[in-house]
Amino acid sequence: MSLNGQVALVTGASRGIGRAIALRLAAQGAAVVVTATSLEGAQNTAGEIAAAGGKSLAVKVDVSQVAEVENLFKEALAAFGKIDILVNNAGITKDGLLLRMKESDWDQVLDVNLKGAFNCIKEAAKVMTKARYGRIVNVSSVVGEMGNPGQANYCASKAGLIGLTKSVAKELARRNVTVNAVTPGFIETDMTAELGDKAREALQDQIPMGRLGSGDDIAAAVLFLVSDGAGYITGHVLSVNGGMYM
Ligand code: NAD
Repeated sequence: MSLNGQVALVTGASRGIGRAIALRLAAQGAAVVVTATSLEGAQNTAGEIAAAGGKSLAVKVDVSQVAEVENLFKEALAAFGKIDILVNNAGITKDGLLLRMKESDWDQVLDVNLKGAFNCIKEAAKVMTKARYGRIVNVSSVVGEMGNPGQANYCASKAGLIGLTKSVAKELARRNVTVNAVTPGFIETDMTAELGDKAREALQDQIPMGRLGSGDDIAAAVLFLVSDGAGYITGHVLSVNGGMYM
């Protein structure tokens, strides 16, 4: 699965799943544009890639802001001249039961998780349709498929990403641009680190494989979807959840 000569842009790659994806794509030979809300965070991952002999560029961006995303793509194109792969991984949670959920909690989560992906896809599509090549992967979630109490905003954003994936897959297919989603189950990252022992045990009980997943589990699925071998797969939602939801 060589990605030599290809350029990938991964959002939210300072830590967790995004970092694992960025490192994995770089290890296969891609130059990687690493983005995060903190420049230092993005630089850390970019530094790891450079230390391993790869090419990378760190950019601070809030994906919910159109002007920042436009600027991100300008910088990426100035540095590497093209973008073959886009991974929309940036995401946040603002959990709470519906009756207590503030309008701002709803808006922020939808703005980052769903509108952020829309903003990046729009910029990437301009480049990819011209090049008649592209691979887009959206990081959704198992709870976007099954729902979860206390996460109405997050689940709506992640379910929305699946609709976005399938619609854009149909629009871009003729230009040889594939658009797929991965739906991680519960993965060991900062996002799930706040869980207490009891909540963690309850979660593990729901997972047939009996363990939380790792960032590398997700990165391997993303690598497959951006590889040559997945060239005839588009609009697909790939579950990586240890059997939690089938
Ligand atoms: P994390 O909190 O560890 O990392 C999130 C990343 O997103 C960070 O790099 C952060 O800088 C970036 N980010 C946050 N807001 C941003 C914004 N406005 N603009 C740009 N970047 C922004 O999260 P994680 O657990 O690694 O999750 C990564 C993705 O996987 C998210 O989309 C999340 O919803 C999804 N996911 C995670 C799990 C899990 O169990 N951890 C499960 C399913 C799906």
